[in-house]
Amino acid sequence: MSDRLIYLDNNATTQVDEQVLEEMLPYLKGEYANPSSMYTFAKKSSNAIKEARVKVKEFVNAESEREIIFTSCGTESANTAIRGVLSMNKDKRHIITTKVEHPCVLNVYKSLEKQGYNVDYIGVNSNGELDLEELSNKVNGDTALVSVMYANNETGVINPIDKVSEIIKSKNKNTKLYVDAVQVAGKIPIDVQACGADMLGISGHKFHAPKGVGALYVNSKTIITPLIIGGHQEKGKRAGTENVPYIAGLGKACEIAQENLHYEATEVKRLRDKLEQGILKNIFNARLNTGVANRVPNTTNIGFEYVEGELILLHMSDLGICASSGSACTSGSLEPSHVLRAMNVPFTAIHGSIRFSLSKYTTEKDIDYVNSVMPEIIEKIVKLSPYQDELAELRRRKGV
Ligand code: PLP
Repeated sequence: MSDRLIYLDNNATTQVDEQVLEEMLPYLKGEYANPSSMYTFAKKSSNAIKEARVKVKEFVNAESEREIIFTSCGTESANTAIRGVLSMNKDKRHIITTKVEHPCVLNVYKSLEKQGYNVDYIGVNSNGELDLEELSNKVNGDTALVSVMYANNETGVINPIDKVSEIIKSKNKNTKLYVDAVQVAGKIPIDVQACGADMLGISGHKFHAPKGVGALYVNSKTIITPLIIGGHQEKGKRAGTENVPYIAGLGKACEIAQENLHYEATEVKRLRDKLEQGILKNIFNARLNTGVANRVPNTTNIGFEYVEGELILLHMSDLGICASSGSACTSGSLEPSHVLRAMNVPFTAIHGSIRFSLSKYTTEKDIDYVNSVMPEIIEKIVKLSPYQDELAELRRRKGV
C-alpha cells in the first residue's frame, strides 16, 4: 500500500476548494438564521443566497437570476427539469434523449417509457459523437422534450448544443431542450443564451464545491411544475429550507471556475495530453476510445486490449492512483458501460477501459509518475490474460 495519493477521478467528484470552504463557514457557525425569517439576523443568510444566485446566473450567462433554482445535486436538477416540463405539457407524448446519458436522465426516461411515453434514444458514432441526422429525423410535432448532455462523463466528448438546439427548434419550436451540463461546469464556458438550452443542470461537487448542492437554469419562457412540494422557497419551484452554506459555496465555486477556465483549457489540457500520449506511446495494447472527438480538457478514456479494467484499477490503487473503469459491477456480473457499448468499442478493449480525469490540482509530477508506472502495471496484467495469442499478434502488428 502506498501513502501517495494521485487523484485522477475528478469526473466522479472533486476536492473542495479552500476558498469555497471559507465562503461556507460563517453560515455553518454564527450566521445560522433561516433565510425566510423577517428579523435583521436573517439578512446575512438571505443575502448569501441572493449573491450566490447572481454568481450562478453569471456563470451560465442566464438573462436573469430569477431563472436559477438551487437544488441538491445534478440528479435532482435533471429530475426537476424533465418531470417538471412534461407535467406542463401532458398532451404531448414523445420525448427524445441519447443512448449515452448519465443514469439520472436515462433512468427517468425509462420510467417515463413505462408510463406510456414514446421514447427515442439517439445513438453516437465510434468516437462518441452524437448522430445529429438521426436526431433531426426523430423530432416531430408531438415531441415535448429533448435531453442531451453537454459532455459525457465517461469519455468527455462534447455535444454541439447550439446545433442540437437549432435542429430541434427548426423542427418544432415548442419542443423544450434540457442540457445536463454537469460535466462541463468549470471545464468549458457555459452560455445558455448562445447554446439555446431551455433548461440546464449543474452539480457543485464536480467543480470544487461540496456534495449536496446543484442548480437548475429554467429560462423565463419555460414553465415547470415543482418536483418537491412544500413551502414557498425558490419561488415555489423547489420547496425546503435553503441549504445556505452549500448555496454560498456553490456561488463561490462558480466565480472561481469562471476565472479558472483559461487554466483548464491550457494547463489541465496539456497535462491530460501528456498523460494520454505517454500511455498510447509506451503501452502496445492501449487505444484512445474517443478518436478525434472534441472533448473537455480534463478527460481521457483509454482501452487496454485483452485485459480487465478492474485489475488495472486495483494495481493503480496499490500505488495510490485513483481513476475509474468503464464497467459497472452489477449483481456479480461485469457489465461493460452503456456508453462504450453505444460507441461500439471493440469487445477486446471494452472491459479494459479506464477513465482518467484531471483537475486544477493535478500536477506535472502526478502525470510523470503515472506515465512511469502504467507500462509495468499493464505488462503484469497482460501476463495473466487468457488471450496470449491475440496479444502476441497485437505485439507483432505494433512491432514491439
Ligand atoms: N450528469 C452527469 C453527466 C454526471 O456525470 C453526474 C455525476 O456523475 C450526474 C449527472 C449526477 O450528478 P450528482 O452526482 O450531483 O447527482
